Amino acid sequence: MPESKNMKSHKIFILMIGIILIILAAFIYYLSIRSSRKELSGKHNLRVVTTLFPLYDFARIVGGDKVDVILLLPPGVEPHSFEPKPKDVVLINQADVFVYTGKSMEVWVDDIIRGVNNNKLLILDTSKGIKMIKSQLDNKSNYSNSNDPHYWLDFENATKMVDSIVLALIKKDPINIAYYNQNAMKLKKSITDLELRYKLSLSSCKSRDIIYAGHYAFGYLAKRYKLKYIAAMGVSPNAEPTANDLAALVRQIKSVNTKYIYYEELSSPKIAETLSNETQTKMLLLNAGHNVSLDQLRQGISFLTIMENNLTNLKIGLSCQ
Ligand SMILES: [Zn+2]
Repeated sequence: MPESKNMKSHKIFILMIGIILIILAAFIYYLSIRSSRKELSGKHNLRVVTTLFPLYDFARIVGGDKVDVILLLPPGVEPHSFEPKPKDVVLINQADVFVYTGKSMEVWVDDIIRGVNNNKLLILDTSKGIKMIKSQLDNKSNYSNSNDPHYWLDFENATKMVDSIVLALIKKDPINIAYYNQNAMKLKKSITDLELRYKLSLSSCKSRDIIYAGHYAFGYLAKRYKLKYIAAMGVSPNAEPTANDLAALVRQIKSVNTKYIYYEELSSPKIAETLSNETQTKMLLLNAGHNVSLDQLRQGISFLTIMENNLTNLKIGLSCQ
Protein backbone atom coordinates (compact mmCIF):
# COMPACT_ATOMS: atom_id res chain seq x y z
CA MET A 1 0.00 0.00 0.00
CA PRO A 2 1.50 3.34 -0.97
CA GLU A 3 2.37 5.66 1.91
CA SER A 4 0.20 8.67 2.32
CA LYS A 5 1.75 12.09 1.68
CA ASN A 6 1.41 12.90 5.40
CA MET A 7 3.28 9.82 6.56
CA LYS A 8 6.09 10.54 4.07
CA SER A 9 6.64 14.08 5.33
CA HIS A 10 6.44 12.75 8.90
CA LYS A 11 9.28 10.30 8.17
CA ILE A 12 11.37 13.00 6.51
CA PHE A 13 10.81 15.22 9.56
CA ILE A 14 11.99 12.46 11.96
CA LEU A 15 15.00 11.79 9.72
CA MET A 16 15.95 15.46 9.74
CA ILE A 17 15.62 15.68 13.54
CA GLY A 18 17.86 12.59 13.76
CA ILE A 19 20.48 14.15 11.50
CA ILE A 20 20.41 17.39 13.48
CA LEU A 21 20.81 15.45 16.75
CA ILE A 22 23.77 13.51 15.34
CA ILE A 23 25.44 16.72 14.14
CA LEU A 24 24.81 18.35 17.52
CA ALA A 25 26.22 15.39 19.43
CA ALA A 26 29.30 15.35 17.19
CA PHE A 27 29.79 19.06 17.79
CA ILE A 28 29.49 18.71 21.59
CA TYR A 29 31.91 15.78 21.48
CA TYR A 30 34.35 17.88 19.43
CA LEU A 31 34.13 20.75 21.92
CA SER A 32 34.74 18.49 24.91
CA ILE A 33 37.74 16.84 23.23
CA ARG A 34 39.12 20.25 22.36
CA SER A 35 38.82 21.62 25.91
CA SER A 36 40.29 18.48 27.51
CA ARG A 37 43.19 18.59 25.02
CA LYS A 38 43.70 22.22 25.93
CA GLU A 39 43.94 21.33 29.60
CA LEU A 40 46.21 18.37 28.94
CA SER A 41 48.61 20.49 26.92
CA GLY A 42 48.60 23.08 29.71
CA LYS A 43 47.14 25.83 27.55
CA HIS A 44 44.77 26.84 30.29
CA ASN A 45 47.24 28.93 32.25
CA LEU A 46 46.90 29.55 35.96
CA ARG A 47 45.64 33.05 36.63
CA VAL A 48 47.54 34.78 39.40
CA VAL A 49 46.65 38.24 40.69
CA THR A 50 49.29 39.99 42.80
CA THR A 51 49.27 43.30 44.64
CA LEU A 52 52.82 44.71 44.69
CA PHE A 53 55.51 44.53 42.02
CA PRO A 54 57.93 42.12 43.78
CA LEU A 55 55.12 39.53 44.05
CA TYR A 56 54.21 40.07 40.40
CA ASP A 57 57.83 39.67 39.34
CA PHE A 58 58.44 36.52 41.42
CA ALA A 59 55.16 34.89 40.27
CA ARG A 60 56.00 35.72 36.65
CA ILE A 61 59.48 34.21 36.88
CA VAL A 62 58.43 31.08 38.79
CA GLY A 63 55.25 30.58 36.72
CA GLY A 64 56.97 31.15 33.35
CA ASP A 65 54.71 30.32 30.40
CA LYS A 66 52.31 28.27 32.53
CA VAL A 67 50.95 31.26 34.44
CA ASP A 68 49.25 34.56 33.56
CA VAL A 69 50.13 37.11 36.20
CA ILE A 70 48.24 40.35 36.75
CA LEU A 71 49.63 43.26 38.77
CA LEU A 72 46.71 44.82 40.60
CA LEU A 73 48.44 48.19 41.07
CA PRO A 74 48.16 50.25 37.91
CA PRO A 75 51.66 51.24 36.66
CA GLY A 76 53.12 54.26 38.41
CA VAL A 77 50.55 54.29 41.22
CA GLU A 78 51.87 54.89 44.71
CA PRO A 79 50.82 51.73 46.60
CA HIS A 80 50.22 53.13 50.09
CA SER A 81 47.34 55.24 48.82
CA PHE A 82 45.99 52.54 46.47
CA GLU A 83 42.47 51.29 47.00
CA PRO A 84 41.01 48.53 44.84
CA LYS A 85 38.14 49.31 42.50
CA PRO A 86 35.17 47.03 41.74
CA LYS A 87 36.98 45.83 38.59
CA ASP A 88 39.89 44.67 40.78
CA VAL A 89 37.48 42.60 42.88
CA VAL A 90 36.25 40.99 39.64
CA LEU A 91 39.85 40.19 38.65
CA ILE A 92 40.56 38.58 42.02
CA ASN A 93 37.31 36.63 41.82
CA GLN A 94 38.27 35.19 38.44
CA ALA A 95 41.80 34.23 39.51
CA ASP A 96 43.18 30.88 40.65
CA VAL A 97 45.64 32.47 43.08
CA PHE A 98 45.61 35.87 44.81
CA VAL A 99 48.89 36.97 46.42
CA TYR A 100 49.35 39.95 48.74
CA THR A 101 52.16 41.08 51.04
CA GLY A 102 50.18 41.45 54.26
CA LYS A 103 47.66 43.52 56.16
CA SER A 104 50.16 46.22 57.14
CA MET A 105 50.56 47.06 53.45
CA GLU A 106 47.25 46.04 51.90
CA VAL A 107 45.06 47.39 54.69
CA TRP A 108 42.00 46.88 52.47
CA VAL A 109 42.53 43.13 51.96
CA ASP A 110 39.97 41.83 54.49
CA ASP A 111 37.15 43.73 52.79
CA ILE A 112 38.17 42.33 49.43
CA ILE A 113 38.42 38.75 50.68
CA ARG A 114 34.95 39.06 52.21
CA GLY A 115 33.64 40.06 48.79
CA VAL A 116 35.17 37.03 47.02
CA ASN A 117 32.71 34.27 46.15
CA ASN A 118 35.11 32.01 44.29
CA ASN A 119 35.71 29.13 46.71
CA LYS A 120 38.47 27.69 44.50
CA LEU A 121 40.60 30.82 44.90
CA LEU A 122 43.87 30.22 46.75
CA ILE A 123 44.64 33.29 48.87
CA LEU A 124 48.29 33.74 49.82
CA ASP A 125 49.60 36.22 52.40
CA THR A 126 53.39 36.13 51.88
CA SER A 127 54.08 37.76 55.27
CA LYS A 128 53.17 34.45 56.95
CA GLY A 129 56.33 33.02 58.50
CA ILE A 130 58.29 36.25 58.09
CA LYS A 131 59.73 38.03 61.10
CA MET A 132 58.39 41.55 60.78
CA ILE A 133 60.12 44.53 62.34
CA LYS A 134 58.27 47.44 63.91
CA SER A 135 57.76 50.53 61.84
CA GLN A 136 59.61 53.72 62.56
CA LEU A 137 57.38 56.74 62.75
CA ASP A 138 59.80 59.54 62.16
CA ASN A 139 63.44 60.52 61.94
CA LYS A 140 63.76 60.81 65.72
CA SER A 141 63.76 57.01 66.02
CA ASN A 142 60.28 56.73 67.48
CA TYR A 143 58.87 53.29 66.90
CA SER A 144 55.21 52.51 66.64
CA ASN A 145 53.57 49.18 67.41
CA SER A 146 52.62 48.45 63.84
CA ASN A 147 54.75 46.33 61.54
CA ASP A 148 56.95 47.79 58.84
CA PRO A 149 55.37 46.36 55.66
CA HIS A 150 58.52 46.61 53.46
CA TYR A 151 59.94 43.19 54.35
CA TRP A 152 60.70 42.29 50.71
CA LEU A 153 63.74 44.58 50.98
CA ASP A 154 65.52 41.90 52.99
CA PHE A 155 66.77 39.23 50.57
CA GLU A 156 66.17 36.40 53.01
CA ASN A 157 62.52 37.44 53.14
CA ALA A 158 62.41 37.74 49.36
CA THR A 159 63.57 34.10 49.16
CA LYS A 160 60.78 33.08 51.54
CA MET A 161 58.28 34.91 49.34
CA VAL A 162 59.46 32.88 46.35
CA ASP A 163 58.99 29.69 48.41
CA SER A 164 55.42 30.65 49.31
CA ILE A 165 54.60 31.48 45.71
CA VAL A 166 56.02 28.24 44.31
CA LEU A 167 54.03 26.21 46.86
CA ALA A 168 50.82 27.99 45.85
CA LEU A 169 51.42 27.36 42.14
CA ILE A 170 52.18 23.69 42.77
CA LYS A 171 49.04 23.32 44.85
CA LYS A 172 46.89 24.68 42.04
CA ASP A 173 48.80 23.02 39.21
CA PRO A 174 50.65 19.94 40.53
CA ILE A 175 51.37 18.56 37.03
CA ASN A 176 53.98 21.27 36.50
CA ILE A 177 55.76 20.82 39.84
CA ALA A 178 59.18 20.19 38.28
CA TYR A 179 58.90 23.24 36.05
CA TYR A 180 57.91 25.57 38.90
CA ASN A 181 60.57 24.18 41.23
CA GLN A 182 63.28 24.61 38.63
CA ASN A 183 62.31 28.24 37.96
CA ALA A 184 62.15 28.96 41.69
CA MET A 185 65.59 27.44 42.27
CA LYS A 186 67.10 29.65 39.55
CA LEU A 187 65.43 32.76 40.96
CA LYS A 188 66.53 32.00 44.51
CA LYS A 189 70.09 31.45 43.29
CA SER A 190 70.04 34.94 41.68
CA ILE A 191 68.69 36.45 44.90
CA THR A 192 71.38 34.73 46.98
CA ASP A 193 74.12 35.86 44.57
CA LEU A 194 72.96 39.47 44.81
CA GLU A 195 72.68 39.18 48.60
CA LEU A 196 76.31 38.11 48.71
CA ARG A 197 77.34 41.09 46.60
CA TYR A 198 75.42 43.42 48.91
CA LYS A 199 77.14 41.92 51.93
CA LEU A 200 80.61 42.27 50.39
CA SER A 201 80.06 45.74 48.91
CA LEU A 202 78.42 47.26 51.98
CA SER A 203 80.95 45.93 54.46
CA SER A 204 83.62 48.42 53.46
CA CYS A 205 81.99 51.83 53.12
CA LYS A 206 83.28 55.11 54.49
CA SER A 207 79.78 56.16 55.50
CA ARG A 208 76.99 54.06 57.00
CA ASP A 209 74.28 56.75 56.93
CA ILE A 210 71.47 56.56 54.41
CA ILE A 211 69.59 59.85 54.40
CA TYR A 212 66.32 59.19 52.60
CA ALA A 213 64.11 62.05 51.47
CA GLY A 214 61.16 59.69 51.26
CA HIS A 215 59.09 57.40 53.45
CA TYR A 216 60.54 54.82 55.83
CA ALA A 217 60.91 51.91 53.39
CA PHE A 218 64.46 50.58 53.83
CA GLY A 219 64.40 49.58 57.50
CA TYR A 220 64.86 45.88 56.68
CA LEU A 221 67.76 46.50 54.31
CA ALA A 222 69.48 48.85 56.77
CA LYS A 223 69.09 46.33 59.58
CA ARG A 224 70.57 43.47 57.55
CA TYR A 225 73.67 45.43 56.51
CA LYS A 226 74.03 47.38 59.76
CA LEU A 227 73.45 50.74 58.13
CA LYS A 228 71.93 53.78 59.76
CA TYR A 229 68.75 54.79 58.00
CA ILE A 230 67.07 58.15 58.40
CA ALA A 231 63.89 58.87 56.45
CA ALA A 232 61.97 62.12 56.06
CA MET A 233 58.61 60.41 56.49
CA GLY A 234 57.02 57.44 58.24
CA VAL A 235 56.16 54.06 56.68
CA SER A 236 53.67 55.66 54.33
CA PRO A 237 54.57 58.59 52.03
CA ASN A 238 51.18 60.22 52.58
CA ALA A 239 52.15 62.43 55.51
CA GLU A 240 54.25 65.43 54.55
CA PRO A 241 57.21 66.16 56.85
CA THR A 242 56.87 69.33 58.90
CA ALA A 243 59.29 72.27 58.66
CA ASN A 244 60.79 71.05 61.94
CA ASP A 245 61.34 67.55 60.52
CA LEU A 246 63.10 69.04 57.50
CA ALA A 247 65.28 71.30 59.66
CA ALA A 248 66.27 68.26 61.73
CA LEU A 249 67.15 66.38 58.54
CA VAL A 250 69.28 69.27 57.29
CA ARG A 251 71.16 69.23 60.60
CA GLN A 252 71.63 65.47 60.32
CA ILE A 253 72.90 65.67 56.74
CA LYS A 254 75.41 68.32 57.79
CA SER A 255 76.49 66.40 60.88
CA VAL A 256 77.22 63.15 58.98
CA ASN A 257 78.96 65.20 56.32
CA THR A 258 77.54 63.23 53.40
CA LYS A 259 77.70 64.34 49.76
CA TYR A 260 74.62 62.39 48.75
CA ILE A 261 71.02 62.02 49.78
CA TYR A 262 68.53 59.52 48.39
CA TYR A 263 65.10 60.03 46.87
CA GLU A 264 62.30 57.55 46.32
CA GLU A 265 60.50 56.26 43.22
CA LEU A 266 56.99 57.28 42.18
CA SER A 267 56.68 60.21 44.58
CA SER A 268 57.47 63.84 43.94
CA PRO A 269 61.19 64.53 44.53
CA LYS A 270 60.29 67.98 45.94
CA ILE A 271 61.52 67.21 49.46
CA ALA A 272 64.73 65.70 48.16
CA GLU A 273 65.32 68.76 45.96
CA THR A 274 64.76 71.12 48.89
CA LEU A 275 67.15 69.16 51.10
CA SER A 276 69.68 68.81 48.29
CA ASN A 277 69.67 72.59 47.64
CA GLU A 278 69.87 73.38 51.32
CA THR A 279 72.83 71.08 51.98
CA GLN A 280 74.61 71.08 48.60
CA THR A 281 74.27 67.32 48.31
CA LYS A 282 73.64 65.27 45.18
CA MET A 283 70.51 63.15 44.77
CA LEU A 284 70.56 59.41 44.11
CA LEU A 285 67.59 57.09 43.59
CA LEU A 286 66.88 54.34 46.09
CA ASN A 287 63.96 52.36 44.74
CA ALA A 288 61.91 50.25 47.16
CA GLY A 289 60.24 48.46 44.25
CA HIS A 290 56.64 48.64 45.50
CA ASN A 291 55.50 49.38 41.97
CA VAL A 292 56.99 50.32 38.58
CA SER A 293 56.18 52.80 35.83
CA LEU A 294 54.46 51.81 32.59
CA ASP A 295 57.77 52.11 30.70
CA GLN A 296 59.56 49.88 33.19
CA LEU A 297 56.74 47.34 33.02
CA ARG A 298 56.94 47.29 29.21
CA GLN A 299 60.71 46.91 29.34
CA GLY A 300 60.23 43.93 31.64
CA ILE A 301 62.29 45.35 34.49
CA SER A 302 62.81 42.86 37.33
CA PHE A 303 62.92 43.32 41.08
CA LEU A 304 66.54 42.13 41.02
CA THR A 305 67.48 44.79 38.45
CA ILE A 306 65.96 47.44 40.72
CA MET A 307 68.01 46.06 43.60
CA GLU A 308 71.19 45.96 41.43
CA ASN A 309 70.69 49.65 40.67
CA ASN A 310 70.15 50.35 44.36
CA LEU A 311 73.45 48.67 45.18
CA THR A 312 75.24 50.81 42.58
CA ASN A 313 73.79 53.96 44.15
CA LEU A 314 74.48 52.81 47.70
CA LYS A 315 78.12 52.20 46.77
CA ILE A 316 78.37 55.73 45.37
CA GLY A 317 76.49 57.45 48.19
CA LEU A 318 78.22 55.62 51.04
CA SER A 319 81.68 55.59 49.40
CA CYS A 320 82.09 51.82 49.35
CA GLN A 321 85.03 50.12 47.68
ZN1 LIG B 1 56.27 51.96 51.25
